[in-house]
Amino acid sequence: MKILNDRTHGELSREAQGSNFRYLCWLLVVLVSCWCTPVNAGEPLRALLVTGGCCHDYESQKKILTEGISARANVDWTVIHEGDDEGKNHKFSIYGKPDWTKGFDVVVHNECSGFVTNVDWVERITQPHFEGVPAVVIHCAIHSYRQSTTDEWRKLLGVSSYRHQARRPFEVVTLQPQHPVVKGFPVRWQDSPDELYEVTKLWPGCLPLAEGVTPGEDKNRHPVIWVNTYGKARVFGTTLGHGNDTMERKEYLDLVTRGLLWSCHKLDDEGRPKSGFGKQDEARSK
Ligand SMILES: [Zn+2]
Repeated sequence: MKILNDRTHGELSREAQGSNFRYLCWLLVVLVSCWCTPVNAGEPLRALLVTGGCCHDYESQKKILTEGISARANVDWTVIHEGDDEGKNHKFSIYGKPDWTKGFDVVVHNECSGFVTNVDWVERITQPHFEGVPAVVIHCAIHSYRQSTTDEWRKLLGVSSYRHQARRPFEVVTLQPQHPVVKGFPVRWQDSPDELYEVTKLWPGCLPLAEGVTPGEDKNRHPVIWVNTYGKARVFGTTLGHGNDTMERKEYLDLVTRGLLWSCHKLDDEGRPKSGFGKQDEARSK
């Protein structure tokens, strides 16, 4: 019995030690995961900004956009800035790579390549978006590839536009104030001197959220902010943003941030970043 008792005691001890060990392991896992994972933190969205080409201060704009958006949302950036010397003819090198969107959650197009028309090239750009990679299209991206015979770029954008009015201030009127992308954007907003792009066609899947009003011609209005669906992808677009003075405004950066988050399904119905994707979440968890 003694031996048995001893053995029993020994087995109990080993069992007790085993359960202590399991408890310690569990505690360690809990402590490490609490220490490593801030509350509400998500992995940052991996954004690719393609920028450059004709007619705009892309050197400044790449800073304004990346810093402005990352001050508002949990976004990491890769920036491809090329082609300022080639103007409207520039073909961005990244589009020549196989799987050119691989590793990115969203692509921001702020490029100006109006004279690039090669159909295969343009459809190389649009194909991964059609398959589901979200896109944000800004200002001269809407006039890029516009002379190409393929419609795929225009379908990606959600609009067709071939010309813009002279640069001057104009008013922007919100059409869908309940849409989360324009929640917080003024119902009437006076843009800094900017180019009002004339939109000749809306493609299926495009929902205009705001129009620009031609100065002195109240009925002559054009969509300037919209959301679109292209294949499996969500697309946010705005023709606003010729000049840095527009782009630097709080309302503009708030808007483009919401558009980017919406395209990635990371914007809630109130127009706020979903948990883990806003900078305020991060601040609260510290
Ligand atoms: Zn412009």
